[in-house]
Amino acid sequence: MNDMRGLLEETFRRAACFVESLPGRRVAASREADDLVPVLGGGLPKNGLPAREVLSRLDEIGEQGVVASAGPRYFGFVTGGALPASLAARWLAGAWDQNAFSEVSSPIGAALERVAMRWVLEALDLPADAGTAFVTGATMANFSALAAARRAVLLAHGHDADRHGLHEAPEISVLVGEQAHATLFKALGMLGLGRDRVIRVPSDDQGRMRVDALPDVDGPAIVCTQAGNVNTGAFDPVGAVCDATRAGDVWVHVDGAFGLWARSAAEFEELTRGIDRADSWAADAHKWLNVPYDSGLAIVRDAGALRGAMSVQADYLPHRESRDPFEFTPESSRSMRGAEVWAAIASLGRDGIVELVERNCRQARRFAAGLRDAGCEILNDVVLNQVLVAFGDDRVTAEVIRGVQREGTCWCGGTRWRGRTAMRISVSSWATTDDDVEQSLAAIIRSAHSVRAPELARP
Ligand SMILES: *Cc1c(COP(=O)(O)O)cnc(C)c1O
Repeated sequence: MNDMRGLLEETFRRAACFVESLPGRRVAASREADDLVPVLGGGLPKNGLPAREVLSRLDEIGEQGVVASAGPRYFGFVTGGALPASLAARWLAGAWDQNAFSEVSSPIGAALERVAMRWVLEALDLPADAGTAFVTGATMANFSALAAARRAVLLAHGHDADRHGLHEAPEISVLVGEQAHATLFKALGMLGLGRDRVIRVPSDDQGRMRVDALPDVDGPAIVCTQAGNVNTGAFDPVGAVCDATRAGDVWVHVDGAFGLWARSAAEFEELTRGIDRADSWAADAHKWLNVPYDSGLAIVRDAGALRGAMSVQADYLPHRESRDPFEFTPESSRSMRGAEVWAAIASLGRDGIVELVERNCRQARRFAAGLRDAGCEILNDVVLNQVLVAFGDDRVTAEVIRGVQREGTCWCGGTRWRGRTAMRISVSSWATTDDDVEQSLAAIIRSAHSVRAPELARP
């Protein structure tokens, strides 16, 4: 135990050095996983090492394989950093090592979840009495919300899916936008609804579901909308989808992994209008709220539907009137994700969330303007924090992306958009300053020039 303090202090020292290195650090990792595996270990060691030795190996070897995605110039995928208060909460919660499955195993775990979720619902202006679950990410948030949806739409047609699953159930029509996120199909697959047995609703040139193309459906039905297309940032017109489907008992779900946070800011009132009329929502905390991995939020208007789909009965489990976390989550034993969400929001406040969202969107517009001025082609309407850019034909764009990643000032990934290769810039970090944007713009434009994209004006 004596050495415990020394070990934690040593951990603090190493972590602080890493965090301080982030602003100046090359963003890409310096070694590949295949190179790191033999250094980390071969066969199972017979004898253990002192904890300090384990820590120094982890740091010295591991550091070479770390992507500086927590730093200010990582624009890959949709990746938030870790807000200081949230990272601190993670450390302390690690020492507490609570099993947050129940109020009995951790009163503080249950309390933090209740307060944090109340704040989330207020920030997003969603129903205060919704059923909620802290899960690992938007994939599991979609899964959890859609499990509630599956249960509810089948119950409304006289089938108890909790008891019988899909055996002899009426068929559920599942409508999904053509541009839905890949993981939504996985969630549907895990629920027995099938990845391919969905009705794909055509979308427009920004990837928004076309309400005029929604087919009429009979019987139990779920429509999966999206708030924040992972390429363009575009939002499905959720309010109009609710209007179009309200006649039948269609469950409207919103995958708002990052986009849902736009509901906090008045600037995006028009974009996000009507989202509150849906039946369920999925969001990530580890994307735009800048909570460390992993952290997602499932929100279901009818709390009973989520509880019914997720609760378990056993003689040793407590029965309480208040919200007990395990009744709402797919997991039983779990970490206290409420701590990091609570800490993030406690440190930001409502104004801080709005500032973060608005700043990142302004920075995305700056990227688009700067690249356009340099002769690059912006492929999307920059309505949120996502920018798609092409530097010429597919080969040229792919080479520019490789050049940017190699050079290391910033990191942007590639994607395909409407038949073309594009670079995707996602601005989602609390740590990104306007100066980071200028440095990154310059690096991207340098890479474009060195590939000699023919369309590009020379400086
Ligand atoms: C990121 C994302 C997901 C998947 O989220 P995970 O946190 O990786 O599970 C789902 N939908 C959308 C729209 C996303 O952006």
